[in-house]
Amino acid sequence: MDQAKFLPDASLAAWLAELSAARLVLAPRREGGAVVFKPYDPAVPLELTRDATVPPKGAVFPACEELMRYRRVKDPEKPGQPLLEVEESLPEGGVVVFGSRPCGARGFTVYDRVFDAGGLNDPYYAARRKATAFVTLACREAGSACFCHWVGSGPADPDGSDVLLTQVPGGYVVRAVTEKGAALVGSGLFSPADRREGEEAAAHAKARESLDDPRDLAPARQALLDAFDDMEFWSQLSAKCLSCGACTYLCPTCYCFNITDEAQGNEGARLRTWDNCMSFQFTLEASGHNPRPTKAHRLKNRVGHKFSYYPGLHGGAIACCGCGRCIRSCPVGVDIRQLVLAAVERAREKSHD
Ligand code: SF4
Ligand code: SF4
Repeated sequence: MDQAKFLPDASLAAWLAELSAARLVLAPRREGGAVVFKPYDPAVPLELTRDATVPPKGAVFPACEELMRYRRVKDPEKPGQPLLEVEESLPEGGVVVFGSRPCGARGFTVYDRVFDAGGLNDPYYAARRKATAFVTLACREAGSACFCHWVGSGPADPDGSDVLLTQVPGGYVVRAVTEKGAALVGSGLFSPADRREGEEAAAHAKARESLDDPRDLAPARQALLDAFDDMEFWSQLSAKCLSCGACTYLCPTCYCFNITDEAQGNEGARLRTWDNCMSFQFTLEASGHNPRPTKAHRLKNRVGHKFSYYPGLHGGAIACCGCGRCIRSCPVGVDIRQLVLAAVERAREKSHD
């Protein structure tokens, strides 16, 4: 990609104005006690000092999206056979997500393998993914719940980003990661980064130093399979879980959804909405049978999917970017790191029995 560039602090607003002129720009701001992505408004201060409470996953995978509209019509020639007119609702327009942390963008690589790879193509996801660019900001310091480095990532990981910014004295070192990103950094506001590349490297090193020692998660895949039938183990781990679902809704790698029709008279719309595997209803069948009847079954599935089943299907890739949101947001302090490590420890103990 292009050489590194420098953007002075004083030019950030001008760059955002340039970006906003051609497309929707989503940027983080404070709302109440939370940091959320909203359409950029120069009158509202950006919040770039901490990671967003709600990740930017809605930019590509909205909490609720219309897939199509339909209408029942009658053919005068065949009055007994109503026809259905269907109109697909494909998304339009480009979006730039500005100021996400690298893990928030890397989360979409987990989605890509499910929605847009290997002969699978979800046209709604693919259209938004193609039209969305991520300008991410490298982390300066790890939070206590961060564990991106346990899952093969890091505070300045460019994977999933289109442009990576690193804060240095007086501004930002700007690196285009993809062609899509290069198209966003071509204006005269940028100059060559030159000596600031050293400051960029120092900032990345400082952020890495703030992380704890990574734990080896390689044994987790088999350890979680080994623990599958040990419901006593899962009951203990899930005892304090409230099944509130905050961990799934805020997770940048959770992609479960439900599809419903909302109809009025002869017309209706088909909607896709986020679903939540921590909810009792998620696997409730029409017969009343529920294959995941307890929160122990559901927590087992959430952890098992991310660290064992998904890696088994996708060449070892872990379906977690280590952002720590589920840890920070869980009202009762369930820590997914401890659950995975407990399964690994269980397997180690069993091997010594
Ligand atoms: S499981 Fe938790 S740490 Fe992993 S990506 Fe989801 S919210 Fe982040
Ligand atoms: S956020 Fe915590 S309490 Fe709520 S469902 Fe997730 S693990 Fe359970």
